[in-house]
Amino acid sequence: MLIVKKFGGSSVADKDRIFNVARRCIEEYNKGNDVVVVLSAMGKTTDGLLKQAAEINPNAPKRELDMLLVTGEQMSVAYMAMAMASLGVPAVSLNAFQVAMHTSSAYTNARLKRIDTERIRHELDNRKIVIVTGFQGINKYDDYTTLGRGGSDTTAVALAAALHADACEIFTDVEGVYTADPRIVPNAKKMSEVTYDEMLEFATWGAKVLHNRSVEMAKRYNVQLVVRSSLNYAEGTVVKEDTKMERMIVSGVAADKNTSRVSVIGVKDEPGTAFKLFNYLAKKNINIDMILQSVGRDGTKDISFTVASTNLHDTLDTVKEYTDNYGGHVEYEDDVAKVSIIGAGMATNAGVAAKMFEALYNARVNIKMISTSEIRVTVLIDENDVTRAMRAVHDAFDLGDD
Ligand code: ADP
Ligand code: ASP
Ligand code: MG
Repeated sequence: MLIVKKFGGSSVADKDRIFNVARRCIEEYNKGNDVVVVLSAMGKTTDGLLKQAAEINPNAPKRELDMLLVTGEQMSVAYMAMAMASLGVPAVSLNAFQVAMHTSSAYTNARLKRIDTERIRHELDNRKIVIVTGFQGINKYDDYTTLGRGGSDTTAVALAAALHADACEIFTDVEGVYTADPRIVPNAKKMSEVTYDEMLEFATWGAKVLHNRSVEMAKRYNVQLVVRSSLNYAEGTVVKEDTKMERMIVSGVAADKNTSRVSVIGVKDEPGTAFKLFNYLAKKNINIDMILQSVGRDGTKDISFTVASTNLHDTLDTVKEYTDNYGGHVEYEDDVAKVSIIGAGMATNAGVAAKMFEALYNARVNIKMISTSEIRVTVLIDENDVTRAMRAVHDAFDLGDD
């Protein structure tokens, strides 16, 4: 069997954790399996690098940020290979350049396009454990790129697809995918299975346990994933196409604090206004999610939307270009968050949104914006209300363990 095992930052945070991971991989190797290990940077290394970079230049060129960030993963893989060697097992560490993991050219947010597998295959044929840097790639200019925060999951899934692996396991610091972040909702329940579509919604709307692109890729190439703990052998959560479980109306709650609301006030109430505004933003590659437009009055209207807080600065600059040309003015809030309920059975059940709103009302949480899809309802609320809101909604749908 060929097995891809990915370990996140907290699973390799220090010497003991590195040896713990090394032993776990060696167990698999000693059963006669081919083992490919994908690692993230140790602990909070990536945050640390970004903070230091910001002290030197808060507006650092993205190419140089990537040049810096890739060092985090490179440390992990080298230490891991050293640990395995000290345990007497042949291992080799490879970075994105050595494997050749080709991505699009967008620095800090690149997409994996193609992975060369020759070098990895060659090392596996020599009975080595192959340890690969997560999160990074190279683009057509032979520059390093990164895949967006949390992107090591995507590296692992892409490798599993490219190598036609028999299993892809994502090891982390919780035992699987829960009905809500167990750090925010203590009685959240571990799910034994979750579908790609539901997991994609969870990941996109804030459950960072998996990078959303990794779920997209798993679905596209039909890679079955297991999410489980690196610290024990508890059964994890299987992420796959269809589950035998009965479709839950609501299967879980997610929250995303990396959100800001931007409102463009007093724009012209005429055809083309939304097009022009969002076209400005699209040209700058700024993703928008919730959008709300007021009813026009006296020839003007307001358009509000949410963006990732990490894009707020760019968004405000871009919207200013728009208002300078077409009128209106900008207001924004950064201390807001999105809370979503997700469930494949929602589409065929009335009253789900109302029940969520009732729970929020009982918890005295004010809703600022609402957006829905077939299998999701999202509200924008004050960031300080997130814990209260999540627990209230989680309880209202009876998702907890007791
Ligand atoms: P890693 O470093 O292993 O990639 P992450 O920090 O990226 O780990 O993701 C794991 C974290 O995701 C958990 O510690 C947990 O707080 C958070 N999380 C958010 N939502 C969920 C959820 N629904 N189920 C499990 N964990 C979740
Ligand atoms: N080290 C990177 C990050 O912190 C990638 C990852 O952890 O998946 O975002
Ligand atoms: Mg992660």
